[in-house]
Amino acid sequence: MRILTFLAACCLSASAAPNIVFLFSDDHALNAISAYGGRLKDVAPTPNIDRIAREGMIFERSYCTNSICGPSRASIITGKHSHLNGFRNNDSDKFDGTQQTFPKLLQKAGYTTAMIGKWHLVTQPTGFDHWDILPGQGSYYNPDFISENGKERVEGYCTDIITDKAIDWLENRPKDKPFVLMCQHKAPHRPWVPAERHYTLFDDVTIPEPDSLFDDYSDRSDELKKQQMTVADHFSWGHDMFLPRKPEDPRFLDMALGDRRRMKKEQKSAFDAAYGPKNEALYQKLAAGMSDKELTQWKYQRYMKNYLRCVRALDENIGRMLDYLDKSGLAKDTIVIYSSDQGFYLGEHGWYDKRWMFEQSLSMPFLIRWPGVVKPGIRSQALIQNIDYAPTFLEAAGAPIPSDIQGRSLLPVLKIDGEAPNDWRKAIYYAYYGERTHHVAAHDGVRDDRYKLFRFTKTGEWQLFDLKNDPDEMHDISGDPANAETLERMKALYQEMRTKYEVP
Ligand code: CA
Repeated sequence: MRILTFLAACCLSASAAPNIVFLFSDDHALNAISAYGGRLKDVAPTPNIDRIAREGMIFERSYCTNSICGPSRASIITGKHSHLNGFRNNDSDKFDGTQQTFPKLLQKAGYTTAMIGKWHLVTQPTGFDHWDILPGQGSYYNPDFISENGKERVEGYCTDIITDKAIDWLENRPKDKPFVLMCQHKAPHRPWVPAERHYTLFDDVTIPEPDSLFDDYSDRSDELKKQQMTVADHFSWGHDMFLPRKPEDPRFLDMALGDRRRMKKEQKSAFDAAYGPKNEALYQKLAAGMSDKELTQWKYQRYMKNYLRCVRALDENIGRMLDYLDKSGLAKDTIVIYSSDQGFYLGEHGWYDKRWMFEQSLSMPFLIRWPGVVKPGIRSQALIQNIDYAPTFLEAAGAPIPSDIQGRSLLPVLKIDGEAPNDWRKAIYYAYYGERTHHVAAHDGVRDDRYKLFRFTKTGEWQLFDLKNDPDEMHDISGDPANAETLERMKALYQEMRTKYEVP
């Protein structure tokens, strides 16, 4: 099969050794991408990201292996699950850069490789001819970058600067070789500080609330009640809500907004002028008395507007890159992908953040444009995962796919209009190993095209969800005798997947 698709790839004359531009962001939920038709498509559309779907293929069942920043990135770059690439959590793991990665394999295949923006794998990048990255999480304003030449601070807004640097690299790259460019944004990661031009965007609208904003976690494991990632109780006054001082109200955690400290005098003035009146209105409301529900709704609006403002700058910059590829003549020979390291809760289940195997954070956007290979306007239902990106890039480049890579090249799916071939995977395997932050219990599980089964590692408790009848995952049906057969089938699938992926 692999030999056949390899030969097929080589026969595509227009796409022999195509360039690859991997546009990537951090924590971008499907509900905040209008091409996905999500909850916020009308209030906050993303026309430039949507353009990739319109001119290419959008995957509606695209998932991560482990829903946090570092681990997802490690799975992408190695094509392997966390237990094999060694990066299971952001607390204590560092990426072992001596291992096999797709950029190194592409270099061997004659590609120039570049990594610009948020890297977040702790150790220095390896396998890149050029790299210029944000240290750690990076900053929205006047961010520092580190590269082979040391550290520099660049004045301006992070999302704009990363695109500037990426376009600058494209302009000045060695022109005698095909290239892979990984252009990886910080946005829309917490603390959701927008570009100055977007500070008042959405001021006059109300962002729709999800049905489960006030989820009480009944009908599911008590483990759900132990997390600390709710809109209601786990936002800090400064870092998350942009208030200038701690309100005399216990319903805010304590942390100032570090990004404001990095701003220059005039940047601070613009920030304070935009948020000051909105903040004063809140202080007055708090003094008059706000119910828990009213305050949660206010926090949700503040959170969502800032998140969506960050998405707006991101979308504008994706547009800027697509325009550059057109103008430079690169578009026709270049695969363009848009993805993000995992999904995010935009108030669903009362949450922000990620980590859980529930759909909103398990899902990753994956949109791909490949002129001459991928027909425009196709929506694929194939079950794909971030371990598939590495083998896809290798096969597209005409390079061999090492047998220890666990993902599968998407080329067969791309070539048959988004249909999964008969021997495609029937389910995906997921594992979250737990971190100190947010107190989400470790769990792993499987998802097929209808059901999701997951198991809490510590308690051994099972959760089973029927995604067809309960798409919001509000009811664990594992204890219902009517589902005994499904439960047994999914447990067998869980064991099968753990064996297949060599989970210890
Ligand atoms: Ca992330």
